[in-house]
Amino acid sequence: MHVLLVEDDLLIAQGVLAGLQLQGFTVDHMAHAAAAEQALQLGHFDAMILDLGLPDEDGLQLLTRIRGQGKDLPVLILSARDSVVQRVAGLHAGADDYLLKPFDLRELAARLHSLLRRSSGRSTHLIEHHGLTFDPSTREVTLHEQPVILSRREQALLSALLQNPGQILSAEQLQDSLYGLGDGVESNAINVHIYNLRRKLGSDVVKTVRGLGYRIGVPHEPA
Ligand code: CA
Repeated sequence: MHVLLVEDDLLIAQGVLAGLQLQGFTVDHMAHAAAAEQALQLGHFDAMILDLGLPDEDGLQLLTRIRGQGKDLPVLILSARDSVVQRVAGLHAGADDYLLKPFDLRELAARLHSLLRRSSGRSTHLIEHHGLTFDPSTREVTLHEQPVILSRREQALLSALLQNPGQILSAEQLQDSLYGLGDGVESNAINVHIYNLRRKLGSDVVKTVRGLGYRIGVPHEPA
């Protein structure tokens, strides 16, 4: 899951970045509204964490503008502005959640998971698919009730495919959800992760749709 963090306080940003990366999120950090807007044009993000007091623009103005451009990713405002009027203004501008500073990183991660769950239309926490389960908050995977050990990138890849069942995701989209904008990515990296997922979960678990990309398939049967 690829998150855009927009925060000009570098200490807070570093804490959030490190905490969310430990939880398996891919995070890009921008300290200015203009840079954030550019990042949103360049990459695909599953959610945005937005500080309101930014050096070049108020975060609410940025939020209003990107909603006007039709960008509908979940947005969580992170702010020290604690009056009811200000929170309501944030929600009116198109925020999905509002967390007050100071905050606990675990709460931030839990709220992000809940936003992502809602935006993918799931009502329960656990994603289940033909005997395969994936828990987005612990990133635990089981197949026919047996735990399966996946690397961080394999988990991210499986998560992207499971969150969009029936949809074909291009190699570029998959790459976007696994890697940050600045990460150097080997051209065959996605293929390697797909190969490993098939090895661990069955050759049909990732379906190749020729010329278009990939979608989730059916894992192997119980032995
Ligand atoms: Ca700030």
